[in-house]
Amino acid sequence: MRKIIYLILISVLLSSLSSHGVVGGEEYQNCTYKGCEEPIWKGSDKYCIFHDPNPDKDKVLFEQKLKEKIEKDRIKKEKYDFSGFVFPYANFKGFKFDKYADFSNAHFYGNINFSGAIFQNGVSFTGATFHSLADFEETQFLNNAPKFDNAIFEKEVHFINTYFEGGGHFVQTTFKDYVFFTRELNSQKMTFGGEASFDKAVFEGEGSVEFRNVTFGGLADFNNVTFGEKANFHNGKFCNGADFSDVIFQSTLWFSDCIFNTEANFQSAEFKGDTYFVGTVFEKELSFKNAKFEQIFTFAPEKNNEIDLRYLRCFGNGQITADLRKTKFYHIYSIENLKFDNCIWSENLKIYEERMNDLTYAKLQTVYKDLKNSFEEHDQKDLVGKAFYREMEMKRFRAKEEGNIEDYLFLLYFKLFAGYGEKPFNIIFWSFGIIFLFAILFLASGIDIKNHRRYNLALSDWIKYFYYCCLFSISSFTTLGSNYITPRNKKSKFLSVFESFIGVILIPMFIYFIIEKIFSYL
Ligand SMILES: [Zn+2]
Repeated sequence: MRKIIYLILISVLLSSLSSHGVVGGEEYQNCTYKGCEEPIWKGSDKYCIFHDPNPDKDKVLFEQKLKEKIEKDRIKKEKYDFSGFVFPYANFKGFKFDKYADFSNAHFYGNINFSGAIFQNGVSFTGATFHSLADFEETQFLNNAPKFDNAIFEKEVHFINTYFEGGGHFVQTTFKDYVFFTRELNSQKMTFGGEASFDKAVFEGEGSVEFRNVTFGGLADFNNVTFGEKANFHNGKFCNGADFSDVIFQSTLWFSDCIFNTEANFQSAEFKGDTYFVGTVFEKELSFKNAKFEQIFTFAPEKNNEIDLRYLRCFGNGQITADLRKTKFYHIYSIENLKFDNCIWSENLKIYEERMNDLTYAKLQTVYKDLKNSFEEHDQKDLVGKAFYREMEMKRFRAKEEGNIEDYLFLLYFKLFAGYGEKPFNIIFWSFGIIFLFAILFLASGIDIKNHRRYNLALSDWIKYFYYCCLFSISSFTTLGSNYITPRNKKSKFLSVFESFIGVILIPMFIYFIIEKIFSYL
C-alpha cells in the first residue's frame, strides 16, 4: 500500500517537472505573456522571441519566426495578432494586411517602416510605443479607422500622404517629437475620410506639428489637445466641423489659408504663442468664446460668417480685419489690446447682439463702451463717435425701460439737438428752424419797426415785413436784442422772451460740442 502511494507521488512529481521543461532538457514551457501560445525562446526564461522585451535580441531568428507567424495567422486565424510584440525593427514596407492587424501594446525599435503598407480591415496600435522614427508615408488605412489610442511616439512620426479612409483615432496619443500629417498639393485623396479624433492627445513639444494641406472629411476633433510646440495647419480643409475647444497652443500657430466648411469651435482655447488666421475661410459659425490670446493675434480671414468673441481675453496685441456684421462682442477682456482694423461693420455700428435682441440694454451699453475704448486706443475717431452714439442710445432705451423719465427726456433732448454731441451741426439746423418758426409767429402777433409807417396789404410789403420778423427772431434767439424792431404787444413780447430762452440753452451747447470736436482732432 505504501509503495503504491510513493509511486503515485513520484509519478505526479515527474509529470509536473517535465511539463515545466526540466526533465529531458528541452523547452516545453509557454511564453508568460498573457494569451501567448509561443514557446519560451533560448534567450529568455520567461518570454517567446516576440514578447522578449530586449530590443537587441536575435534579429535573424525574430524575422524567421515572424514570417512563420504571419503565414500561420493568414491561414488559420481571424486576425494578425502582434499584440505586445517587441519589434527590434519593423519592416512592413508595402505589406498588404488583408485582415485586421493587432499591434496593441507593441513596442517598436530600430527602423519602423510601414510606408506604402495597406491595411484593408483595420489595425490597432492602441497602447503601442514607437521608440524611433515611425514611417507611415503613403500608408493606406482602408475602410476602418486605425486606432492609435494611448500610443506613444518617442521620436518623429511621418504620416506623409497617408490615407485614412475611415478616419483615425489618436485619443490620448502622446507625440514627443516632430509630427508630420502633411500632404503634397497635387495629391487627389483627402487625408481623413472619416472623423479624425485627437481627443486629449498630447504633442509634447520637442518638435513642431505639421498638418499642412490636410483634408478632414469628417469631424476634426482636437478637443483638449495640448500642442507643446509650433503647430501649422496651413491650407487645411475642414469639411465637417472642427473642434479645437479647450486646446492649448503653447507656441506659434498658423491656420492661414484654411477652409472651414462648417462650424469652427475654438471655445476656451488658449493661444500662448503668436497666432495667425490669415486668408482663412469660415463658411459657418466661428467661436472664440472664452478663448485666451497671450501674444500676437492676427485675425484676417478672407471670408467669415458669424463670430463669437464673447468673454475673449486678449493679453497680447490683437488685430482683427474681418466682416463683423454677425459678431458677438459681449465682455471682451482687455479689448483695448484688440485693434479692429478695416473691419466691415453694420450700419451705424449697430452690432449683431443688438439686432438679435440678445442682450439687455445695460449689457449692450457696456459692449459699446468697450468698443469705444478700443477705438479710442487706436485713434479711430469716426468709430469712437459711432460707438459713443450707440452707447448713449442704449442708455436712453434703458431709461425708458426702467421708467426713468428724467434721464430719458434729457437723453432724447441731447440726441435730437446734437446727436449726443456727435452731430453738433444738428443744433444749427434746429436753430434755423426755430428762428423761422418764431418769425412766422411774430408775423402773426405783430412787431413795430422804427421810422416805418404801417404797411399796405401789397405782397411786396408783406415780404418786407416778414424780412423784419426774421431779423427780430434772430436778435431774440441770440439774445442780442434790437433797438429799431420792438414787439407790438404782450403776445409778441412773450414769444421774444421764450425764443431767447431756447437760444440761451442751444448756443453754448453748440459752442461746447464744436470745441470738443475740434480738440478731439488735434
Ligand atoms: Zn509570447
